[in-house]
Amino acid sequence: MPSSIYLLYSLLRTVYYPPYFAHEDSVMNASTKRLVNFTAAVLVGLLLACSSMNEAGPPSGSPVHHLVVLHTNDTHGHPVKFFKAPAPDVGGLAARATIVKRIRGQSKNVLVLDAGDINTGRPESNLFKARPDIEGFNYIGYDAMAIGNHEFDNALDVLKEQMKLADFPFLSANVRTKQGELLTLPYIIKEFDGFKVAIFGLTTKETEFVAHQENIRDLVFQDEVEVAKQLVPELKKQADVVIALAHMGIYNSSELGSKRLASEVSGIDLIVDGHSHTKLDAPIVMTDPESGHKTLIVQAWKWGLVLGRVDLFIQEKRVIEYEFEAIPINLKEIEKKPDGAMVYPIIGEEIPEDPKLVRLMKPYVDRVNSLLSKVIGQAEETFSYRGVRKRENALGDLVADSMLWYTKYMGVDFALQNGGGIRADLPKGPITQRSMHEILPFDNSVVVLTLDGATVRSLFDYMASMSSGEGGFPQVSAGLSITLNTLTKKYEKIMINGEPFDPGRTYKVATNSYLAAGGDGYRMLLNGLHSYDSSASLRDVLIRYIEHLGGTIKPHISGRINFTDQRTHSESMQKAA
Ligand SMILES: [Zn+2]
Repeated sequence: MPSSIYLLYSLLRTVYYPPYFAHEDSVMNASTKRLVNFTAAVLVGLLLACSSMNEAGPPSGSPVHHLVVLHTNDTHGHPVKFFKAPAPDVGGLAARATIVKRIRGQSKNVLVLDAGDINTGRPESNLFKARPDIEGFNYIGYDAMAIGNHEFDNALDVLKEQMKLADFPFLSANVRTKQGELLTLPYIIKEFDGFKVAIFGLTTKETEFVAHQENIRDLVFQDEVEVAKQLVPELKKQADVVIALAHMGIYNSSELGSKRLASEVSGIDLIVDGHSHTKLDAPIVMTDPESGHKTLIVQAWKWGLVLGRVDLFIQEKRVIEYEFEAIPINLKEIEKKPDGAMVYPIIGEEIPEDPKLVRLMKPYVDRVNSLLSKVIGQAEETFSYRGVRKRENALGDLVADSMLWYTKYMGVDFALQNGGGIRADLPKGPITQRSMHEILPFDNSVVVLTLDGATVRSLFDYMASMSSGEGGFPQVSAGLSITLNTLTKKYEKIMINGEPFDPGRTYKVATNSYLAAGGDGYRMLLNGLHSYDSSASLRDVLIRYIEHLGGTIKPHISGRINFTDQRTHSESMQKAA
């Protein structure tokens, strides 16, 4: 009897792997595989469910189908393996291809999906408008991709070219032209042996606000939930399982992003999500209080650092069991040998690269290497990075100002860069692309955070508490002036764009993705009311800012960070007493 065979199969798979506890942007430190809800209690529940299903009428022998959904999101122009601090040669399409091929060899029902934002990241992608990424997706055999907001970073014609180049459809059910036509296919139905799967795409309505307005002026972004409410009942009639490929994001509030989609639209079995760069160790499960129907939400971090794997067991048009795994793609830890040498042990299994795909990428890599010697400007004097962790620094000012300039259109009040993120001098003379990589070796993007006054106050408190020489020492943009008391470790005076800091209002702060994720102790930045990752590389933003300044730059500082070493009045009094 198939259901008892299924139980036996499940029992054989009852291996418990501990979940990993990893922070955003840190490397994983344990096996990622986790058998999500398989406990003895669930097994008993499943037995009960089977018997009650028999009572309810369906034939006891109805088959259980096994579907493997492999997924990525926000790969953001990372077609070839790259340096992710602290380790080299992480990720890349060629290693991902090896894993996908292997899983296809083990399971007959496999879907490979991407939840959008393939565009904008490293030069190997940016310089060729994501052509290498799409060629790699074609090679791997992706089944579909959702349109993310960053698919509108280029002109609409570029997106149309990308769709033509792809052997798989770009899906979105809620992006229309002003004439009311869909921009692309809303959904596809995939037929497997004995069952069908509907996959529909959704693009965050946020695109309206965060995309470059020029590129979307002829488009309308409909409310994702309203569109899904219309579409899902139709898809339920056509397929056994409904998957939303949603570039919407996972947030704390269930009134936002994919949680809102799951809670307001009934009948979606799986949401393969993107946009918020969320690293999960288990799916988020949302249960419809009326029907008891469960919707799983998954996301696979970013940059192809992991490949998400969801196994769905489907019976009678219902998902009766699932598993989830985030497979690390050659992520590494750092280890110091007794002789001082650094080694980078791989987390999990080392995945060999598919040699054919490596060859396909090589011309792009070669071209990038030659382009990095390109001169982008001229430094009249050396911008030294000495003291960048102790006091205001001209290079720090330049980097922070570039972030402010880039995000000014979003109403940003000031920008913040950690001194420790600046690693080299900008020498007098020609400025090359390569020197930008030396100054800013970390692949950070520019992030805009909306913070309430209390959070901004704790940000300033933290800045004031920093010891001289710490990597988190702040470098700030024009518009912010802060006086730090080195004795009391408190801030004394803060002016933001000519006004005293007002803890009663919200502020928009641009920073790098490392600090936005709580790096260097800036944990308060995780408490943002909203966070938007522009995905523009900090390095590219700096290059464009230098070009904007006319190419020739000269170091100077303007009194943004000041120090006093006076005890506060009350402290002096205590001391005296
Ligand atoms: Zn996005």
